[in-house]
Amino acid sequence: LWLHPGEAELVNLRDQQTQWQRAQEKARLESKQPAVTLDSRAIEVAANIGGPLDVPVALEFGAEGVGLFRTEFLFLDRETAPSEEEQYQAYRQVADGLGDLPLIIRTLDVGGDKPLPYLDLGHEENPFLGWRGIRFCLGHPEIFKPQLRAILRAGDGRNVKIMFPMIGTIDEIRMVKDILVEVKNVLAKGRIPFDDDMPVGIMIEVPSAAAIADILAAEVDFFSIGTNDLTQYTMAADRGNSNVAGLAQALSPAVLRLVSQTVNAGHDAGIWVGMCGELAGNEVATPLLVGLGLDELSMSAPSIPAVKEAIRNVTMAEARQLAE
Ligand code: PEP
Ligand code: MG
Repeated sequence: LWLHPGEAELVNLRDQQTQWQRAQEKARLESKQPAVTLDSRAIEVAANIGGPLDVPVALEFGAEGVGLFRTEFLFLDRETAPSEEEQYQAYRQVADGLGDLPLIIRTLDVGGDKPLPYLDLGHEENPFLGWRGIRFCLGHPEIFKPQLRAILRAGDGRNVKIMFPMIGTIDEIRMVKDILVEVKNVLAKGRIPFDDDMPVGIMIEVPSAAAIADILAAEVDFFSIGTNDLTQYTMAADRGNSNVAGLAQALSPAVLRLVSQTVNAGHDAGIWVGMCGELAGNEVATPLLVGLGLDELSMSAPSIPAVKEAIRNVTMAEARQLAE
């Protein structure tokens, strides 16, 4: 911070600013190109978004789709839950903004650190270990079903996939799929257009899910690894507590083993495996993640250019060796 910069200092700083802007512009231009390793393996690089306004930004940074649309934004900071119609319009707007590019919509993940003002979640001693994500939605069909309807309807004629957060057991995904079938039947009876073949995926972010990834893989079309939660639950270190930030490291061998195990389980079952936690946007980790076999990396948009660049600078052999 320069409180009283002299003329020479200002000239120097403006010069640096111009150089920085040029470098950014170059990275952005290159970021519109696909991310392919030196030996021709393409990795899909997508953006994490929180609402329709993020779509143009994601495309500007070179996103090849959206790997995580956090739908919480529609539900927070308001007095009542959004209607099915309001959600449908928002999901459609995001999908239309992406054109043919893929969009993964994640169902509501409230609870934990994200309370809902109009629903009394009750006091919990350990909210992160409590009624959160899919656990909360399975207990609140009046909130869950309208969202499923809105997502299925928005997928009609568009490239949309649905993803469920915080799945930890086989029963949870089976219950979710039963509800999805029920909602589809009602839509079909009402002759309301929707995507009957929408791919279904789950986040792998609870260690129990990583442990049974081979079993869960038989139930779904794709996995996306949420390293933020997977790290805090594996390391037993709150992701928001700075006192244990040294423990809450996604690059811990324990977390990486679970990532590796999840990727292998997914591939053995013939499904693709992505990552949408913060680790996916860390360009230092990119060669390692490529080596672990991830098919897709989804991140906050400004990280895309550097991650694509990192992918272009490795071979699979080098990346695999690093992962080993
Ligand atoms: C994660 O847990 O890694 C994730 C992507 O989900 P969120 O950060 O929204 O909990
Ligand atoms: Mg999470």
